[in-house]
Amino acid sequence: QLPDHYNHRLPHRRLQDEPGGESDERHKRLRRDQDVGVTAAVSEHPPFLSTRRHLYERDFPLYKQPVEVGHFSLDAKRRFFNDDRQLRYYIHPDRHPNFHLRDGYRDRYIKRDEGVKEKLDHLLRWILANKSKVQIQAASSQELNVDVVTWRGHLTKLLTTPYETREGWLLAVTRFRGTLYISEVETEADQRSRESRTQRLEEMMYWGYKFEQYICADGAQNRPDPGGVVNTNEAFCTVIQTRLAGHKLLFSGEVDCRDGDPRAPVAPGCYVELKTSAEICTPKQHSNFLRYKLLKWWAQSFLPGVPRIVAGFRDNDGIVVSVDTFHTSKISQLIKSEENCWKPTVCMNFCAEFLSFAKTVATEDDPEVVYLFSWDPNRDVTYSIHRNSQYTFLTDWGDPNRSDIWGNTSLHHAARN
Ligand code: GDP
Ligand code: MG
Repeated sequence: QLPDHYNHRLPHRRLQDEPGGESDERHKRLRRDQDVGVTAAVSEHPPFLSTRRHLYERDFPLYKQPVEVGHFSLDAKRRFFNDDRQLRYYIHPDRHPNFHLRDGYRDRYIKRDEGVKEKLDHLLRWILANKSKVQIQAASSQELNVDVVTWRGHLTKLLTTPYETREGWLLAVTRFRGTLYISEVETEADQRSRESRTQRLEEMMYWGYKFEQYICADGAQNRPDPGGVVNTNEAFCTVIQTRLAGHKLLFSGEVDCRDGDPRAPVAPGCYVELKTSAEICTPKQHSNFLRYKLLKWWAQSFLPGVPRIVAGFRDNDGIVVSVDTFHTSKISQLIKSEENCWKPTVCMNFCAEFLSFAKTVATEDDPEVVYLFSWDPNRDVTYSIHRNSQYTFLTDWGDPNRSDIWGNTSLHHAARN
């Protein structure tokens, strides 16, 4: 029987290079000491968090079955709608289809402006429109019944951190009315590489969206329209509630499409993630696929409980040569053949530990204060504190006169009190 990793814990597996006689207690103590940089003189805020893999090799933490509490859509002009108008339907392709991913790149492509930083805006807007679904059920309470609000993509980055060797990250954290809001900040390195992408890379980014267009239709009874325009402003996002160890999470992620069968499970069980990847011709490519690609694919889909990933394998000219389905719950089995491969438990334990770390650090409850967590490969996670800086993201969004999530005062007003 394959564990799906939701709702229950897996038996502890000991590291092979760990002395077998070591007690769990000692193991835990060691882990704590190295893990959050607590020394004899215990500081109020531990200064760093280690990302070393072996520290997170322990039982799989509790991760509750993710529940969809809502969804929203962003249209061709990136306007928010509190509904599922952008949800698309999965249309099963031939196993060896003839998709030309380069088609339309020059003349039927509208690309979202990546220079516009949306931070948590759309998700906050969803919360505003759906307060009753997330607020603590007491008339007087202005608190949300969650510990953490963020994008799924930010959590994916946390999950893969112990295995990431190339790209660091910056995460801005603000505590407001007890809840931590986590929003990514583009690193200078990210901005540089974004602004100096080659033509080839720029085109290859389009291929993923073009693949979606070949596979998705606007209705369960409709056909995909490969002759249409690819517009990357359009999005359908699910809003998920779940719990990781002691952390109640509310996050949103973009969903590519759903199973059109009316008998399919309820969301997120009916959702399908679409991916493209270079075709695999050599053992080395196969190994890299398992070690790097599948880690990212697994983390992204496991978090919101999306059970299926449909992958198009393409050649160097952007022609899809085969299509394969990966079941998210079986990916951890697929990688077992690979020596020294990534482990789901390390990803989840690191993420849980980061959230605990963030909770201890981000103590001041103030929308103007940002705790900026910073990580670079081969380093520890560190942080700095910023008041009313360029990083502030909860006080400057939208119309200051509208009512906010927490009561009838605007965030601007709340910030002044
Ligand atoms: P993912 O898991 O990395 O695909 O990101 P999410 O599903 O968490 O998406 C969160 C929000 O960010 C959605 O509104 C997406 O449309 C948007 N988004 C996704 N990927 C990118 C990206 O590469 N750049 C920018 N600027 N926004 C993105
Ligand atoms: Mg996708």
